[in-house]
Amino acid sequence: MRYDVAVLGGGPGGYEAAIRCSQYGLKTVLIEARELGGTCLNRGCIPTKALLHGAEFFDEAKGAEEFGVLFDNIAFDYEKLTAYKEKIVGRLRKGIEGLEKAHGVTVIKGFGVLKNSNEIEINGESVYADHIIIATGSSPFLPPIPGIDNKSIMTSDEVLEMKQCPESLVIIGGGIIGIEFATLYASLGKKVMVLEMQPEILLGIDKEIVKELSRILKRKGVEIITGAKVLSIEGTDEITVNYEKGDQPKSAAGSCCIVSVGRKAQIDNIGLETVGIRRNGSFIDVDAHLRTNVPNIYAIGDITGKIQLAHVATKQGMVAAENIIGKEKLMKYDVVPSCVYTNPEIAWVGLSEDQAIKAKKKIKVGRFGVGGNGKASVMGHSKGLIKIICDEATGEIYGAQIMAPRATDIIGEIAVIMECEGTIEELSNTIHPHPTVCEIVMEAAHDVEDLCCNTL
Ligand code: FAD
Repeated sequence: MRYDVAVLGGGPGGYEAAIRCSQYGLKTVLIEARELGGTCLNRGCIPTKALLHGAEFFDEAKGAEEFGVLFDNIAFDYEKLTAYKEKIVGRLRKGIEGLEKAHGVTVIKGFGVLKNSNEIEINGESVYADHIIIATGSSPFLPPIPGIDNKSIMTSDEVLEMKQCPESLVIIGGGIIGIEFATLYASLGKKVMVLEMQPEILLGIDKEIVKELSRILKRKGVEIITGAKVLSIEGTDEITVNYEKGDQPKSAAGSCCIVSVGRKAQIDNIGLETVGIRRNGSFIDVDAHLRTNVPNIYAIGDITGKIQLAHVATKQGMVAAENIIGKEKLMKYDVVPSCVYTNPEIAWVGLSEDQAIKAKKKIKVGRFGVGGNGKASVMGHSKGLIKIICDEATGEIYGAQIMAPRATDIIGEIAVIMECEGTIEELSNTIHPHPTVCEIVMEAAHDVEDLCCNTL
């Protein structure tokens, strides 16, 4: 069969790119080896958030007496929560299948291998296309630590398959995925220890926010060891993780060990060498148009090694589709919101205060504490803050960091104003509904507006 576009991989990059190409009138085929929705829907964003939602509900229920809600013998059924997660994933997967069909995208099941710059072979049959978008995503990375091949070691893939809740966990890696799992199991009352090699967890996020989160996690019983270099892993039923902190040998024990130290591109055995597609380290090399060195072949998503987030993969898919129809669009990465689904949530976009200072920008920082927000108080939340970083002279917004209930929804507002090159004055002038948590954005803008915008 001949197509205008063949998309290899049906994750949030690939399935959205296929729909976009079809919307542009291009005859499109989408090839997927496993399930539509990719990592994000089946082994990433959605299943973790379904589990976290249940755990948060449990956590809040434990403190609900204050709201006059009385429970007798509050308990948790992990198997039921995993069934709920599977129901949500299944429903959304059907939704994607329906969307592809509705847009006239042909979906082929099977592992695709590039044979030349216009041909992909799947299950011994070939499809031909004028343009190809590679979107084969990523899988968990396992560092070369003795004992890492132990059958009891889990990556996020296995954790999300688990039907029983472990009693105690050692999590290697205090990045976003590790900290979300720590939040999940600590909320369910399990013993959690996080081992992080760097001097702090969630490296790169505003230090003040990380400090506050660390305090909250500790109060939940999570033990966080930073500067911990893991040396080896032993045991089967009970696992011992040997590590070193400041030259001192130490060990941590748990009934389960999760390794979450990053993800690697899935680009082996897909024919890159046959076609001569250039790599950039362990990723595929692309230009700002998302073209590879082979002009009719594009690469998007986690395999490009830019920012491994679902919404970045999706945006890259849109940009690749636009470039296929000749729009010459550039992919930009300066306004990409990121989220951590802790309780309260954390979200940020653009530059942090430290990054702006390092970039020698003259800045002012507008702040507001969640404790002063009416809606958050009603919801029983007092912890958290927002920081908006803006240009001292013009009020241009460089970025924001938020720790607050629903921070992951609120960050979209800052992303929009940054994308529109708006100012702190415009943010401050915008009437926000009351009582809402998003009023913290306006309050932080009020805090700093008079200090900059000296052109007013
Ligand atoms: P993928 O989603 O990995 O999809 C690639 C697809 O290609 C897969 O379905 C695979 O089967 C298929 N494939 C591979 N090779 C072939 C082949 N040769 N032929 C056919 N098909 C092939 N991101 C967020 O933005 N928010 C979150 O909250 C979030 N939470 C996460 C939680 C976890 C636990 C994990 C692991 C990730 C999370 N992510 C999150 C990251 C997000 O899932 C990824 O960034 C995103 O899925 C990348 O999309 P993609 O399209 O590049 O690849």
